Amino acid sequence: MKRKHAALDVVVVGGGVMGTACAWELARRGRRVVVLERSVPGAEASSAAAGILGAQLEAQTRGPLADLAKESLRLYPGWVRDLTRATDLDVGFRACGALEVTHTLAEARRVLKRTAWQKPTPRLLDRRALARREPALGPRIGAAIAFDGDARVDPRSLFRALHIAAAQSGVEFRSGAYVRRVTTENGRATGVTLDDGSLVTAADVIVAAGSWTTLVEGLGIAAGAVVPARGQIVELETPVPLLTSVIVGPRAYLVPRDDGRVLVGSTMEFVGYRREVTAGAVRDLLDAALELVPELALSGVKQTWSSFRPYTHDELPLIGATPTPHLWLASGHHRNGILLAPVTAAVVAALVLKKRPKVALEPFAPDRALSQRPAR
Ligand SMILES: Cc1cc2nc3c(=O)[nH]c(=O)nc-3n(C[C@H](O)[C@H](O)[C@H](O)COP(=O)(O)OP(=O)(O)OC[C@H]3O[C@@H](n4cnc5c(N)ncnc54)[C@H](O)[C@@H]3O)c2cc1C
Repeated sequence: MKRKHAALDVVVVGGGVMGTACAWELARRGRRVVVLERSVPGAEASSAAAGILGAQLEAQTRGPLADLAKESLRLYPGWVRDLTRATDLDVGFRACGALEVTHTLAEARRVLKRTAWQKPTPRLLDRRALARREPALGPRIGAAIAFDGDARVDPRSLFRALHIAAAQSGVEFRSGAYVRRVTTENGRATGVTLDDGSLVTAADVIVAAGSWTTLVEGLGIAAGAVVPARGQIVELETPVPLLTSVIVGPRAYLVPRDDGRVLVGSTMEFVGYRREVTAGAVRDLLDAALELVPELALSGVKQTWSSFRPYTHDELPLIGATPTPHLWLASGHHRNGILLAPVTAAVVAALVLKKRPKVALEPFAPDRALSQRPAR
């Protein structure tokens, strides 16, 4: 039997960081929003991320992603302040900077040459300067480039705060709600159909279904437009913190937490939706981590996990309007979704509210991933 829910302003498909951030932004502006999540909110990539806010690290060349990342990082302190004000929770946002470490000074100089255009200007640290900044780094690390603008956050704490803040602003979350397709009438989106056949109608639909985006019917997106890129992580635990900065090495990165935990990441694998953590990946990650910080050999292995980055072929997210009026996308953020959440929420909310987004969205336009005319 088909049930029809009361009309809402906005229905969001997917309760990860993207869907929840968009929902919160719109609810704060007085919109009635429901988030439909097939599992539980935050169940997927958004809780698996390491939490590097690497606007500089990721910007090895100039381009639209570098600009978007920079703008999102600029928004982060205010976004976190609002979240903390709303929830009283510490989300682990630390303006700690990031170090891209190398074996030799010559390698570090090459990184500097590539990134010298950035602001704040990346700095070359020789062994002595590096030892002063991060004394736990091992003897095989010879130099680093310091990206002082970069930061870190604890994605699980961030998501918890975001979820609470959104709910307090009136967002309704429905867990176990699997969205099958987007419904349309006279060519415009009118809501979604769930797999139990029920309809949820709303004035606008935002699809933020991460690596599963192309499985939502009625978007007109090519099946391969967003694919899962598996990443595995090993979480270590030391009795006292050994690091403060994010460390990116040739074979792995380390993201410290204030309580002594260190995340070691990550693999980039195209293996469909296979969730396992593999012996080979754990071995390689630990080997790389111990080269970076030999003292980690004494740390406890707390847990391991894997999840799926929503990967697009040009590695740019899909943000904004689709050819179907009132249907919007916030997907394909690949390995920077935690970083890009504030700016994505701001621009998607602006679009839904018929305001001009403050960021040029052409490079991220979803129509580059459309395979067919929108469903009628
Ligand atoms: C190992 C790893 C490390 C990472 N590290 C970083 C990092 O350091 N910094 C950074 O910025 N980013 C990082 N990322 C990337 C970041 O996690 C993602 O880009 C971001 O979480 C994507 O958010 P999302 O909301 O789009 O996707 P998700 O968090 O995957 O959420 C999508 C949600 O949609 C739901 N859904 C899917 N289909 C349906 C449907 N039909 N109906 C209802 N619900 C549906 C899913 O259940 C899921 O909860 C990392 C990712 C991984 C895997």
